Amino acid sequence: MRALSYFGPNKVKVVRKPDPRIEHSNDVILEVTRSGICGSDLHLLHGLVPDTRVGCTFGHEFTGTVVEAGQSVKNLRRGDRVVVPFNISCGSCFYCSRGLSANCENTNPNSDVASGVYGYSHITGGYEGGQAQYVRVPFADVGPMKIPDDMDEEEVLFLSDILPTGYQAAEMGEIKGGETVVVFGCGPVGLFAMKSAWLLGAARVLAVDHVDYRLEF
Ligand SMILES: [Zn+2]
Ligand SMILES: [Zn+2]
Repeated sequence: MRALSYFGPNKVKVVRKPDPRIEHSNDVILEVTRSGICGSDLHLLHGLVPDTRVGCTFGHEFTGTVVEAGQSVKNLRRGDRVVVPFNISCGSCFYCSRGLSANCENTNPNSDVASGVYGYSHITGGYEGGQAQYVRVPFADVGPMKIPDDMDEEEVLFLSDILPTGYQAAEMGEIKGGETVVVFGCGPVGLFAMKSAWLLGAARVLAVDHVDYRLEF
């Protein structure tokens, strides 16, 4: 397959590498249909994330179509279209069973800093990312969500990271309705934080940024 590959700080190229294969019976293989580039990918690109290895593929925000499902997978089958959250969780450990799936104990044997994350260095488990034609998705019955038939990939892609990230910021602000909310930073996550603030009932939302074009929205 073709995949983005990291060669060192500020150097990535699209190269050919072997297609991913089922490694555990609860994996699926997706043909990637959309893949986002995240602000967090810049930290990898700039060489700032420890243990970002030469040859790894970035991409933790993607949708795809199932091309192969492992024997234990119950909820997905070939042809299903899915959007995949960026953090990989087992669904059954201490943290997952309390809804804290980003702290999953079972998907990142390399460190305690976080759960496994697609395409985000060996510090988060060394999983290959979705800026590629195909990607392996472990614990496939837990994270991936099926895309409704009447929606297309671009309508749901942002559920993989930036929409819930912005929503969580608004939720942590404990908006009850009627407040004035200030959002610092009007990049994509900031825009979703603003949208979420409106959704949660804010009366007024102020946007702050020093980049002019971002204030045009
Ligand atoms: Zn992201
Ligand atoms: Zn878990």
